[in-house]
Amino acid sequence: MALYRDEAVVLRTYKLAEADRIVVLLTAGRGKVRAVAKGVRRTGSRLGGRLEPSTHVQLMLHEGRELDVVTQVEAVHQFRTIREDLVRLRDALAILEAVDQVARERSPDPPLFAMLVGALRTLDRRPAALLVAGFYWKLLGLEGTAPMLDACVRCGTPAAGGDVELVALDLAEGGAVCRVCLPTGGGRRAVRPEALALVARILGGDLAGALATPAGPLAAEVTNLATQALEAHLERRLRVPRLLDRSIADVPTW
Ligand SMILES: [Zn+2]
Repeated sequence: MALYRDEAVVLRTYKLAEADRIVVLLTAGRGKVRAVAKGVRRTGSRLGGRLEPSTHVQLMLHEGRELDVVTQVEAVHQFRTIREDLVRLRDALAILEAVDQVARERSPDPPLFAMLVGALRTLDRRPAALLVAGFYWKLLGLEGTAPMLDACVRCGTPAAGGDVELVALDLAEGGAVCRVCLPTGGGRRAVRPEALALVARILGGDLAGALATPAGPLAAEVTNLATQALEAHLERRLRVPRLLDRSIADVPTW
């Protein structure tokens, strides 16, 4: 079996047999990798504490046919602040779940890896109401399915210059809809222009500015839209609240 070294973020872990754990990793060099960490559920295991979800690690792995085997782990960043604060933990798990859904097995995706590490670093430093939404929209951008927000997706009239007012989002058609076109077609969600403007800022490269948005109805609306857009893209529902409960039960390492 070939031995290799890679850098990774732990997306999630689950139990295997008596004392082992499967870790799902987003690696820098190989995309999503599933690996066995042997003996980590025994007390005193040195590997175990370094393989918690959201941890950024350097690993040595043996390549396996289906599952690789973790032989060494060094923490690059433990992100302790994230795991010690429930709000940050919930946000981290929401991000990790989305990456787990989007990442392809053994298919390198350096921009996705860089974005994940960047988001976790930001979250570790300072929580932000729009962090998860910002990540989801950028993720949709990486996937090439960000919505069209500068013109009506149905009639093509540009929003700039105030020609039309965009008042809804049609996720099936992939963009904003103007007031004139609103009565035609289904699948639309009414949105406030400020919410669309904020999404456009995130997608347009001003994520840092958008992250300054305080918690409140606007941030909640943008987060809701982001979740719906990502779920539409994934064609499945995200399980963040359930994950949060599970991770609380999983966290004890003391
Ligand atoms: Zn229109």
